[in-house]
Amino acid sequence: ANAVELRNLRKVYRGSGRSAPKEALKGIDLDIPEGSIFGLLGPNGAGKSTTINIMAGLVNKTSGTVRIWGFDQDVNPRQSRASIGVVPQELNIDPFFTPRAALEVQAGLYGVPKSERRTDEILAAVGLSDKAEAYARTLSGGMRRRLLIAKALMHRPAVLVLDEPTAGVDIELRQMLWRYVRELNAQGTTIILTTHYLEEAQEMCDRIGIINHGEVVACDDTRNLLARL
Ligand code: ADP
Ligand code: ADP
Repeated sequence: ANAVELRNLRKVYRGSGRSAPKEALKGIDLDIPEGSIFGLLGPNGAGKSTTINIMAGLVNKTSGTVRIWGFDQDVNPRQSRASIGVVPQELNIDPFFTPRAALEVQAGLYGVPKSERRTDEILAAVGLSDKAEAYARTLSGGMRRRLLIAKALMHRPAVLVLDEPTAGVDIELRQMLWRYVRELNAQGTTIILTTHYLEEAQEMCDRIGIINHGEVVACDDTRNLLARL
C-alpha cells in the first residue's frame, strides 16, 4: 500500500502586495510506498517544501488530492494529520523552552494523552537526555535539529518527513541522523526526505522522485533511476 498519494496537486501562492502569483506546484502525482525511505530531489525553488508542507497540513493546497496513510486530507483531516510528522528545515525553537517543555507542548497540540507521552524515551533516542532541562537558546544547531526530530516523533506518526535534514549539519551529526532515520524505518516508519543533493538521496533512499519547476520529472527505485542518468 502507499503511505502517501498525491493526485494532480496544484499550489498557487497568491502574490502579496505587488508581487505576482506564483504557481509552485503544477499538478504533482506521487505514490510513496509504505515502509520506504523516499527522497524528494530537486534544485532550490523546485517545490519540495511546498509539497511536504501541504502533506503535513501546514500549507493549503490550491487543488488536487492528498491521501496520508489512506486518509484523504479533505475527508479525514484529523486522521490524515495524525499520520504524519514533519521535521522543518529552519531551526526555529522557542529560546526559553527546555526540550522537555517543548515536547510537552507538542504532545498537547497533537492530543497525546499524558500516559502515552514517552518524553524521556524520545529524548534518550535523539541523545538529548542530559539537555532535557536546558533552555533551548543554549543548545547547539545539532541539538536543535535533534529536538525538532523528537517533537515530530511525539505523536508516533506512521510517516516522518524531514525537510533538508542535513542542511548546515556537520558530518558527525549527519551520520548519527542517518543511523537514526534508518532505525526508525526498520521499526516501520515510512520516511520522506527532501534534498538537493543526488548523493544524499542515492545513499539514503530506496526510491527517488525528482521535482523541478513544480513538476515530477522522474520517479523510480533509486537503482533504476541512477541507471538512466
Ligand atoms: P524548494 O523547497 O524546492 O526549494 P519551495 O517549495 O520552497 O521549493 O518553493 C517553490 C516555489 O514557490 C519557489 O518559486 C518559491 O519562491 C515559491 N514560494 C514558496 N513559498 C512561497 C510563499 N510563501 N509565497 C510565495 N511564493 C512562495
Ligand atoms: P537549476 O537550473 O535550477 O539550478 P539544476 O541544474 O539543479 O536546476 O537541475 C536542472 C534539471 O535537472 C531539473 O530538471 C532537475 O530536476 C534535474 N536534476 C537536478 N539535480 C539532478 C540530479 N542530481 N539528477 C538528475 N536530475 C537532476
